[in-house]
Amino acid sequence: MKFDPTSCPKCNGKPKGTIEQVLGLAHVIELDDQPGVYDYEGYTDIWWDDQFTREDEDGKVTLECADCHEQWQAVMTPSPEVAKVEG
Ligand SMILES: [Zn+2]
Repeated sequence: MKFDPTSCPKCNGKPKGTIEQVLGLAHVIELDDQPGVYDYEGYTDIWWDDQFTREDEDGKVTLECADCHEQWQAVMTPSPEVAKVEG
């Protein structure tokens, strides 16, 4: 894939990654002394298969800089080589 702009606007660093959204199932447990009342158990099943790259209203993704952690919006286009492997 390619990004435009491809480098950090603050320090000219390379992108570390894209901001993603991941859903999951947070386990709850019923309290022994309060039937019908639940609390978080402390474990979450992450639904990795539903992970997706967040896009803003203009279809741009958010990148984070590998050096200074600044975030910026960019147009992401898949490279032909990647599309060929996936297809
Ligand atoms: Zn930076």
